[in-house]
Amino acid sequence: METSVLVINCGSSSIKYALVPKDPAGPRLSGLAERLGSGEARLKGTDSNGEPFEQTLVDADHARALEAIFERLEGRLPAAVGHRIVHGGEHFTRAALIDDDVVAAIEQTAALAPLHNPANLAGVAATRRLFPDLPQVAVFDTAFHQSLPPRAYRYALPEALYRDHGIRRYGFHGTSHAYVSRRAAVLSGLAGGGWLTAHLGNGCSTCAVWEGQSLDTSMGLTPLEGVAMGTRSGDVDPGLHAHLSRQLSWSLERIDEVLNRDSGLLGLSGLTNDMRELETSAEAGHEGARLAIEVFCYRIAKSLAALSCALPRLDGLVFTGGIGENSAPIRERVTALLPHFGFELNRTINSETIRGREGRIDAGGRQLWVIPTDEEGQIATETRQRLEEATA
Ligand code: ADP
Repeated sequence: METSVLVINCGSSSIKYALVPKDPAGPRLSGLAERLGSGEARLKGTDSNGEPFEQTLVDADHARALEAIFERLEGRLPAAVGHRIVHGGEHFTRAALIDDDVVAAIEQTAALAPLHNPANLAGVAATRRLFPDLPQVAVFDTAFHQSLPPRAYRYALPEALYRDHGIRRYGFHGTSHAYVSRRAAVLSGLAGGGWLTAHLGNGCSTCAVWEGQSLDTSMGLTPLEGVAMGTRSGDVDPGLHAHLSRQLSWSLERIDEVLNRDSGLLGLSGLTNDMRELETSAEAGHEGARLAIEVFCYRIAKSLAALSCALPRLDGLVFTGGIGENSAPIRERVTALLPHFGFELNRTINSETIRGREGRIDAGGRQLWVIPTDEEGQIATETRQRLEEATA
């Protein structure tokens, strides 16, 4: 019997997919349909021999792209489809088997994620129409953080904004923080414990996990809150919006655009949001690149220190995401800012041994780990668990 799960991450003009076998370490068929709805729509990926392919899908919509993706599965019909859904609001504390009620509940949270949830739902609708007999599960970026206590998720704002409009901190990157904190607990032999996790990719967030439960995280109502990111500002003074509006007559749309797309590493450096390029440029003496890296690392360390307040005990820190997994200098800078936490890096192992592989990089103090994230694997695992429960 086929036990693979097809993981789908549907954006407004793209669909990322991966066919994940039961053994998460097994080979995956994966790819990306992009520029959907345009004359340049296409599907790229790798087949079961690891050979790359690319096909044009002129003017294809999500449904046509999904058909093309299923044709690329080489006859392996998955046991279920796991959909990544960005926002589950307060409704979803875990993955959910998709039916009309679940779709309606996701629609209700669309106001909280106007760019993402409708696109995610387009993928769900197309898959349900094309494959009505295939079980489908929604896995939410926010669900892992539903264990935050009120002291961590409430803003100090009038209560009615929370009660009537759901304005609170939700947190994102939940599948990644869940996956790496569970791996850390297993690899360390602690079977639980207290962990700080730093997911550092284009989007960046930190999280405090105690006994497998998220107790606080750096992102909030939207994925803009928290540390500085590739192009996102992270925390700014909440008075900034009014200031820019009054002094520069900027519209809300413009402020939103600047904070989301022109800020972070890109804004600080005036150069790029790509950490590899920034490291090379900083080395060559570019002041903006140096400052961007310094601010980035300081803000991460400050966020981790703040989140440590959520934990009864701290066992270690985990780095993940494109930067966390690959950049030894960033890991070194961040841990160097936290000596009072007992973090002591083994600089040789940090710089030489670990390259995108799971491994422990401390010199014997509190534990420091690099754990490559596996959001697709985690979505497949949660999909399978939900399905097994439903059929038990
Ligand atoms: P996304 O959040 O879009 O999934 P990733 O997790 O792939 O992004 O992270 C992208 C970031 O990782 C980029 O800033 C990229 O420069 C950085 N990165 C990837 N490899 C390295 C490396 N070897 N050294 C430093 N940064 C790296």
